[in-house]
Amino acid sequence: MTSFDPPLLLSAPRATNEDIEAVVAAMRSGWLAPAGPDLWAFEEEVAQYCGVSSAVGLSSGTSAIHLGLKYLGVAPGDCVLLPTATFGATAFAVTYLGAEPVFLDIDDSWNLDPELIERVVTDLRKQRRRVAAVIPVDLYGTLANYEVLVPQLEDLGIPMLEDAAEALGAHCPRGAAGSMGQAGVLSFNGNKLITTSGGGMLLTRDEQMAKKVRYWSTQSREDEPWYEHKEVGYNYRLSNLLAALGRSQLRRVDEEVCARRRIREWYRSRLSHLAGVAVQGEPMDGNSNAWLTVIRICEDRYPGGPSRVREYLAKDSIETRPVWKPLHQQPVFESATAFLTGAADALFREGLCLPSGTQMTETDIDRVCSRIESALGK
Ligand SMILES: *Cc1c(COP(=O)(O)O)cnc(C)c1O
Repeated sequence: MTSFDPPLLLSAPRATNEDIEAVVAAMRSGWLAPAGPDLWAFEEEVAQYCGVSSAVGLSSGTSAIHLGLKYLGVAPGDCVLLPTATFGATAFAVTYLGAEPVFLDIDDSWNLDPELIERVVTDLRKQRRRVAAVIPVDLYGTLANYEVLVPQLEDLGIPMLEDAAEALGAHCPRGAAGSMGQAGVLSFNGNKLITTSGGGMLLTRDEQMAKKVRYWSTQSREDEPWYEHKEVGYNYRLSNLLAALGRSQLRRVDEEVCARRRIREWYRSRLSHLAGVAVQGEPMDGNSNAWLTVIRICEDRYPGGPSRVREYLAKDSIETRPVWKPLHQQPVFESATAFLTGAADALFREGLCLPSGTQMTETDIDRVCSRIESALGK
């Protein structure tokens, strides 16, 4: 390796000439106001892509989780179940409503373990706690086990909000990521599969929910000439300019998924000879969007492996990142209730996210993999 090799980032955002022209066209059209035709069209296009009837463009995935949970009736003192292996935002939104996140461990797909749910719900109900919602997360673009989760939560009478922030473009036999629950959430943050630089969306088949969330997100303004408010509002709407960028990016979402899946396959075949190093798989009957390629480095075979690899690759300007630190280990959630099997803790010790942006070539992948081999002494 020479010192001239360019840096390789985890998931660098990409803007094509078409993206730039789309934003400029939106500016020229005079729709600089938050709402506008690109926003309405973006909502329709995403809803159609994900197979739901309604979508609400919001300022972030986090605000979409917040208002989605609010509509589902999450209130102070309630419990909301979610996997411990996720980004903090999933749980932060729960706390905005005065509710308490309860962390559950993960299954083989690295997502919410359905086998824990019934016991946890029974346990909490015995303590007279109300379980107001469950938030499965589709980690790194792999869908949770909805074949089990959907009927299970229906039986328990608990609404589901799907955090599909990382999973746009993934599918399972039940449908597209974001369409599994009463509400689904997408994120268009800078490092996600498609981006509006910052933004999110709430997906639903419930027109009333879409209407209400849109109303809350625009400061709960009533239909009066003056600003009339009957409820507390939020300034959470996605802007028309950013929606123009989102529409342009959405046009190549399938291409993007193909490219990411190809990158993951390159990694898989290039690393397959390394015993004790495995690329995140996916259920046989689903299609992950392969947002990030994540490897697991067996701790018995390579003690301290992930940190060693991360530091070694950083010297060569290759960005890698540990998997999400389990939320029950986060200082801010120190006193939260958690039901654990040790699976998420083990994943945190062994997992590492590799550069997965679609600009990467097979030569780049080869460079990353050679460095991984060196770091592990191979
Ligand atoms: C990115 C992300 C979010 C938050 O989305 P923002 O648009 O950044 O607010 C929520 N949950 C998960 C799992 C995410 O990866």
